[in-house]
Amino acid sequence: MVKEIENLNEILELVDNPILITNSDSQIEFVNGAFTQLTGFACEEILGQTPNILSSGQHDETFYTDLWNTLNEEGRWQGQIINRKKNGELFARQLVISKIGQAENGSAKYVAVYPLGGDEVEGVAQQGLASLTNLPSREFFFDRLSQALARARRDKLTTVLLVLNIDRFKQVNTALGYEAGDMILSQVAERITGCVRDTDTVARLGGDEFAVILVGMRDEVTIRKIVTKVQDALAVPFEYDGAEVRLSISIGVSAFPTTAFSEKLAKDVNNVEESLLSHADAALGHAKKQGQGSVEYHCKEVSDLVTNRLRIESDLYRALENNEFTLNYQPIIDLHTEDVVGAEALLRWEHMERGWIPPSEFIPIAEDSDLILNIGEWTIRTALKDLQSWQDDGLPPIRVSVNLSPSQCIKGDCAKAVEQIVEECQGYANTLRLEITEGLMMENSAMVHEKLDGIKNLGISMAIDDFGTGYSSLSYLTRMPVDTIKIDKAFIDNMEKNSADAVLVDAITSMAHKLQFKVVAEGAETASQVSFLSQVGCDFVQGYFYSKPLPSKEFKEFFRRQNGDQKIRCQQISYHI
Ligand code: C2E
Ligand code: CA
Ligand code: CA
Repeated sequence: MVKEIENLNEILELVDNPILITNSDSQIEFVNGAFTQLTGFACEEILGQTPNILSSGQHDETFYTDLWNTLNEEGRWQGQIINRKKNGELFARQLVISKIGQAENGSAKYVAVYPLGGDEVEGVAQQGLASLTNLPSREFFFDRLSQALARARRDKLTTVLLVLNIDRFKQVNTALGYEAGDMILSQVAERITGCVRDTDTVARLGGDEFAVILVGMRDEVTIRKIVTKVQDALAVPFEYDGAEVRLSISIGVSAFPTTAFSEKLAKDVNNVEESLLSHADAALGHAKKQGQGSVEYHCKEVSDLVTNRLRIESDLYRALENNEFTLNYQPIIDLHTEDVVGAEALLRWEHMERGWIPPSEFIPIAEDSDLILNIGEWTIRTALKDLQSWQDDGLPPIRVSVNLSPSQCIKGDCAKAVEQIVEECQGYANTLRLEITEGLMMENSAMVHEKLDGIKNLGISMAIDDFGTGYSSLSYLTRMPVDTIKIDKAFIDNMEKNSADAVLVDAITSMAHKLQFKVVAEGAETASQVSFLSQVGCDFVQGYFYSKPLPSKEFKEFFRRQNGDQKIRCQQISYHI
């Protein structure tokens, strides 16, 4: 497998994330162009060296011991690290290190990837960290906030700001002394940091006031859950000198974009940062008035976001019983013949009062509760039944792809569930394909691997969905029981505008073929995209250019039109993509 990784260096060279690979003797074996650009170290200067060359002297021994223990036990370490560039400058970045292969027989490689996305804080690492809590200071916080806002604008996602204040913290200082106060503050910082993702930012704005920037929030994302998690974490008593200290915390929440920002403001970066903070401060003021431990949202839109989620969660419970779900099927087309050779089953929910609710809104909520297990099983069963009915109507046995949510695999026994359903629908295992995400492939748990292998052993094929949106997943390709890669729509969208994306689509396709994978391009909308995909040798395409997802009956009609009745009758084709 390690050999195959070496063959992938060409691809890694094209990736925007800085990447560094070492062998089991800690010698650097590979760095890509993005790494050179970040650190200033050219390939020839750094190959053969150890990563100590990047050491900033800012981390103590425990930091590295923890890092290595986690890496060796779990195969993966992720966290913020301060490194030194060739010119001596320090920089703080998120870093993900994955271990591949076995250390015992010397075949281990360590792949270090610096994720993209607003994490780079060059040159400010030294003065940026507030010593007491090790958290970024106010100045640093504004830096991060502007990066988060730029990202929110670019990706059309929401940035949420929490401002937290410890209620009556003065009393702690007065009663126990400043030393105790400082110790508790640093524990508060640690607990808050433990509640958020590595891509979020926790900062200390001063005294007993903290701020959290939550990036990349979608409407449906659980702001409330994070707030509750923070409250719960801080509700656990702190210990100082044998005494228990109980704290409560008030929280003000603001978000961008909301209508509280006029068009003009939204374009003016500085104003938006200041306004977002003053919105959260105002909400915090209201929270304080409500009494200890309260949370207030700056405007109705932010609180609507939260209540909407709660409503969806409770409505989802009855949606299955009330038959409010249906499946639509999006044709998958063979680029050589233009025949329909498969379909992806996509879930649709018609809410009794609110009408159609998009999957992007309700699936993450179902995933957070165990409901995804029942919904997931319903989806596979229904897809197989529909497939059976198409065949009863004379269609050949095409492949139906069903999305398998990571939580079905992590929380539930997906292999067992799938086995039962396939038994119910005898003989249809080889017409089913499950789409899994790169995130699931990165799960380094033997249990997940076992379940996925269990599915593969049932004769069910597996595809990687949204390929290219995660990071450092290439090495996992050869280890997981998948046979198809679905290139994410984002690459297809930009292929013609951005030559790097065109190169990537080409490179991913040839790499996939070398590894014996089939390639499906997702979201092709124009003839020129389809023609480019055809040129680079992509096997299949799924997108609005051919068809939107269709209800079962309309899919059957589309199939007949596209493939031609004559062809269907004459050829006993096995339409297995
Ligand atoms: P996905 O698995 O990546 O599904 C493809 C999505 O892209 C679908 O959106 C499809 O309608 C859309 N799409 C396909 N071609 C085009 C195109 O040419 N242009 C545009 N603009 N969009 C295109 P949909 O149905 O809204 O599903 C969104 C996501 O919801 C899916 O992304 C998948 O992650 C999730 N999802 C849908 N059904 C299920 C399900 O049954 N189970 C689970 N776990 N997730 C599901
Ligand atoms: Ca999919
Ligand atoms: Ca997809």
